[in-house]
Amino acid sequence: MKFGGTSVADPEAIKRLIGIVRHQLESQKGGDDAPVVVVSALAKVTDQLVQVARLAEDGEADRAADALRALLDRHVAVASAVTSESRAETVAKVRQEFEELIGLVHALAVLREVSPRSLDAVLAAGEVVSSRIVAAAIADHRIESVWVDARGVIVTDSEYNAAVPDMLETADRTRDRVAPHASRCRVAVLGGFIGSTSNGVTTTLGRGGSDYSAAIFGACLGVDEIQIWTDVDGMLTADPRIVPQPRVVPQLSFAEASELAYFGAKVLHPSTILPAVDRNIPVRILNARRPDQPGTRITADGGAADGQLTAIACKRDVTVVDITSTRMLMAHGFLRRLFEVFERFKTPVDVVTTSEVSVSVTVDDARRLDAIVDNLRNFAQVNCEREMAIICAVGENLRTDPTLFGRAVTALDRVPLRLVSQAASRRNITFVLRDGDVPHAMTRLHQQFFERR
Ligand code: ADP
Ligand code: ASP
Ligand code: MG
Repeated sequence: MKFGGTSVADPEAIKRLIGIVRHQLESQKGGDDAPVVVVSALAKVTDQLVQVARLAEDGEADRAADALRALLDRHVAVASAVTSESRAETVAKVRQEFEELIGLVHALAVLREVSPRSLDAVLAAGEVVSSRIVAAAIADHRIESVWVDARGVIVTDSEYNAAVPDMLETADRTRDRVAPHASRCRVAVLGGFIGSTSNGVTTTLGRGGSDYSAAIFGACLGVDEIQIWTDVDGMLTADPRIVPQPRVVPQLSFAEASELAYFGAKVLHPSTILPAVDRNIPVRILNARRPDQPGTRITADGGAADGQLTAIACKRDVTVVDITSTRMLMAHGFLRRLFEVFERFKTPVDVVTTSEVSVSVTVDDARRLDAIVDNLRNFAQVNCEREMAIICAVGENLRTDPTLFGRAVTALDRVPLRLVSQAASRRNITFVLRDGDVPHAMTRLHQQFFERR
């Protein structure tokens, strides 16, 4: 059971969480293991820690320390409100964690340098303290519960800020450090998002990574279901911040969920589905404020009703890179050479289209774009266009119903489309367009597919 930031935001949210865990325990059968609980940092805390790291980088030691003290106060207030017997001990733990963080951030501010590795040490504190508070709160509400340090369980490589788990080692540690509690009917509570290298250096799995942690633990434990408790009723037909009244998608296939997550449906971290697919474990997205709603169930076969798309998602603020070479394009080896540049700079490309003289790709992570362009210019002309976006319409039915493609294009007839592509899986159609056109285009697509009978 994974609870996101808003589901642990304040004392009321944590009490709702306890109610949900209790209900899960009560509805289980006699021999069932206790659920394992994975929590995010309290709402907005990771963003605020990113701010603190920026202040440290600018040498603003005092402002960084003030921001951390404000965070400490918030955590102490929440911890005090949700605990009873363990209050003093829990508050002391929270204080100790923040004292260490304040010391670390002071050192970073003196050096005016925050490496990816240091950033992970700063960000991890959010999940370390939230999980300690939730574990203590559950125990103080008469449910047997124990805090387990997730950094000692998820073992990753050293790609800081986006670390990749070593599943074999993590499975061993999960078996040793988590499973025994669950089988003794004790609720193990772990922070999501965080892990450590085999040498014990703290890492994070990338923003939104608590979903991924939950799926990793779920797969390692071979659970019956991975539950993602959040602040919406499930996977919605579109991003509710862009389209006014999206609907809940009751069922999805793993493949559809992966595409949607990858192309911007923030409700799931894009890697979440992978461990679930490997073990064929259903994933459910549920609303912690409305626990009686059925949510969205994601399984191997999933499936929308006939003739329907499943959902649309969008990835904003991407860059289109056009690579043109009249001489070379059709020569064999050209594409290898081109993609080798992206690979060297560890930058994934999302959408690719080709014409006779050019290749266009989109990149989301533009941090190394200047170096990539410099290298590409050794053998081609390159043009970059920023402030673009990808809209991705997803549905297994795209394979069988050719009219869906036409309807999507027709819905966008007034929107200038930069690239259009349909992958071999034929499970999605992607449109690349100006970022400013996204709200209008999403609304048009949503009306076409989800608001008409
Ligand atoms: P949590 O903190 O629980 O992990 P997130 O903020 O990461 O929650 O993800 C939930 C949010 O994802 C929702 O509040 C919603 O605004 C956003 N979202 C974007 N696209 C979708 C979608 N297709 N379905 C549901 N939620 C979406
Ligand atoms: N707290 C982390 C973040 O905000 C991880 C998560 O919430 O999933 O990115
Ligand atoms: Mg999230």
